[in-house]
Formats: sequence, structure tokens, C-alpha cells
Amino acid sequence: MEQPRSSRILVVEDHIGLRAQIVAVLVGAGWRVEEASDGRLALQMALDEPPDVLLLDLGLPGLDGLAVCAQLRQRADRHVPVLMLTARDTLSDKGLGFAAGADDYLLKPFASEELLWRCQALARRGELGRSPVLERGPLRIDRRSGEVRCHQRVVEVSGHALRLLVALAEAWPRTVSRSELLQQLWADEPPESDALRSHLYTLRQGLGPSQSLVKTVHGVGLRLDVPT
Ligand code: CA
Repeated sequence: MEQPRSSRILVVEDHIGLRAQIVAVLVGAGWRVEEASDGRLALQMALDEPPDVLLLDLGLPGLDGLAVCAQLRQRADRHVPVLMLTARDTLSDKGLGFAAGADDYLLKPFASEELLWRCQALARRGELGRSPVLERGPLRIDRRSGEVRCHQRVVEVSGHALRLLVALAEAWPRTVSRSELLQQLWADEPPESDALRSHLYTLRQGLGPSQSLVKTVHGVGLRLDVPT
């Protein structure tokens, strides 16, 4: 059975102490965490690699949280669940947050448990909205059944090799670094050094004549070589 992949969250908070506290809570609960302290940079990060959840402070340098959220809604090609984090607690402030496209709202100060519950709920909702089938060029991957087809032909691939393929298909057209793949495939139990290489070999064997679809980008990582 496929293990669930760990969810990715982008934490945008300019208060260093609070950000460190939030990051520690999320990492402790198994999230893959990225951080930003500036609104403009956060928007770019969220557009480049849409996270499963965006945790967004309102008062930020560069671009404030409301503007980040509104621009993300206009420019992102998929829905990124946004949890707004703020000390502003009047009804009209909440209204502005939702009008800018927030999915949920959490007032400072908050309990770590509530932060986790809300992030998990948003990630789950985002997951439900995603199709189980990934289509990438000649590849068709059903994440639920684990069936993979390439040019309509069934490809025999399972276990870690399948998870590797799913990770690359989800990230496509981006190149995925070796360290990110290790984290996605094994979370906090790093395998022996050559495990990734051996699963990559198995995956390419399974793809047979189409094995060049999984491309090594030297010094960077792996990517699916399929036209956008
Ligand atoms: Ca702030």
C-alpha cells in the first residue's frame, strides 16, 4: 500500500521568533516546511512551487498578506489553500481576508494544536480536490490504484519506484532535487546511500523503450522529460 506523502507548507511570517516556533511545531508533526519573511518573495515561491498549504501573515514587508493572497488567486494555475495568520481581529479585517481569497483564518496568539488541526484540514481539502490521475505526455498514472500506463501500455512498476515516478509527475515540469526525493520517499528514515539510484534503475527498466522520460539533470536532480 502507498504511504501518504508528507505535505508541503510555506510559512510566511516576518517575526523571526514566531516563525521559528511555528516551523518547529510543523516539522515535529511531519510537514515539509519552507519559509519566507517577505511578501514578494513568498508570492514568487508559491507560484513557482505551489505548496499544499500557505500559512500567511498579514503584516509583511515587500507585499502585505492580503495582496499576496489576492495576486496568488489571480496568477496561480491551481488553488493553493491559504490560512491567514494575524492579530487583527475585527470582523471587517476577517472580511478583507476572505475577500482576498483566504480559506481560513487564525488569530494570534494561538495554540500549536489548533494551528496543526487547521493546516491538516486545509491540506486534506486540497487533496480531495485533486484528481487521482496524473497525465504527463504519454504517461498516465492512477495514484489510487497505482496503475501506470505509457503509450497505453501497462507499465509494471510498484513500491518505491512507483513513488519516485509519482513524485516526479506531481512536481513536473520542475526538476526535483535528490534531497527532496529522499525526503518524499523516506521521510525521516533515510535509506542507505544508493537506494534512490537502485529505484531509479528499476523505474527505468519498467518504462523500457520510454525510459528516457525520466531524465537526470546533472548536479540538480531528476525530472520528467515530457513537453509542457
Ligand atoms: Ca508580521
